[in-house]
Amino acid sequence: MEKKCVNEKKCGNCKYLHMTYKEQLKKKEEFVKHELEKCPELKGHFKPIIGMENPWNYRNKVTAVFDRDRKGNPISGVYQEGTHRVIPVEKCLIEDELADKIIGTIRGMLRSFKIKVYDEDTGYGLLRYVLVRRGFATGEVMVVLVTASPIFPSKRNFTNALLKAHPEITTVVQNVNNRTDSLILGDKQQVLFGKGYIEDILCGCRFRISPASFYQINPVQTEKLYSKAVELAELSGKETVIDAYCGIGTIGLIASKHAKNVISVELNPDAVRDAIVNAKVNGIKNVRFYKADAGRFLTQMAEEGAKADVLLMDPPRNGSSEEFLRSAALLGPGKIVYISCNPVSLGRDLGVLKKLGYRAEECWMVDMFPWVGHVESVIIMQNCGLKGK
Ligand code: SAH
Repeated sequence: MEKKCVNEKKCGNCKYLHMTYKEQLKKKEEFVKHELEKCPELKGHFKPIIGMENPWNYRNKVTAVFDRDRKGNPISGVYQEGTHRVIPVEKCLIEDELADKIIGTIRGMLRSFKIKVYDEDTGYGLLRYVLVRRGFATGEVMVVLVTASPIFPSKRNFTNALLKAHPEITTVVQNVNNRTDSLILGDKQQVLFGKGYIEDILCGCRFRISPASFYQINPVQTEKLYSKAVELAELSGKETVIDAYCGIGTIGLIASKHAKNVISVELNPDAVRDAIVNAKVNGIKNVRFYKADAGRFLTQMAEEGAKADVLLMDPPRNGSSEEFLRSAALLGPGKIVYISCNPVSLGRDLGVLKKLGYRAEECWMVDMFPWVGHVESVIIMQNCGLKGK
């Protein structure tokens, strides 16, 4: 089962490559249990981590940084851990194999199209990053060419040549990023071929994914995670559900089939736009989407005296805010299902929720990132009646 990676040391992403998959799963379980020790009520309620049958090449999204080697040849890969030096990557054990091939093709095309790679120090050159996203269920493939300038002289011929080499590609987008920070995508983009987005299917729902929208990178495990989250909510069809940090609407849309209505909130405007389309595409009419900061939105709901039966929340790595958690308790949901990609911020937030009257009952873990140190958990909490204290 073990595989070797030539870039393991320099890249530093796959911290668990020296272990067996089984050992790694155990390590992740221990990590979550350790971080949640401050919730003694969870003792004896940790369910065995849900691993992958084939934990390789699971990433549906691959980002490559472009640079030149000492001889001036274009290279693409990842930044060496903690630096801005690019390590060339041709194949990666966790990335989608087709995505890696497409990136290799692009690298090979640069010279004949006289496309210069961008130089971070001088600001000279055009191509900065290539992002490939693939819908594993639909087979759709999106290529995003991130350039430093909107002027891309041979873009039509370049796109045609790329499509000829990889007819599997369903859309090509040029994104312009002339900033100097570490964000990959800029604000401006132009569709060079196809629809400008891909679709994928999860838990029987179809989802539109734009270049900048968040979408889980391991769809096989994501289905298990979302199904578990919705199952733990024990919906009967009568509930008002909040889906906070909803991204492109995934969890709330899946849950909507079992609820009266869903109120979904998300900060990223592109994701909200996708979410609204996703509801339509799936013929779902009982979900409303709001583009707002989730904390502020819940505070406003609480001020208006609104109530909710179930709160589904899936915040980013740094977790939720005190404002969000306090307002959440004021809305008085009987259950909170907290999905977390970071056991540290999860532990902190559970501590706050406990003081607000929510008792953590079960912890489920799903391995969404084999060989990488991250682990996803789902916690079900019940309201013990200290609402809003
Ligand atoms: N539930 C979604 C997305 C989870 S990722 C899914 O599973 O696909 C976390 C999401 O929170 C991202 O889409 C991010 O844009 C959003 N986000 C980050 N900070 C936020 C905030 N303060 N208010 C609302 N949404 C926020």
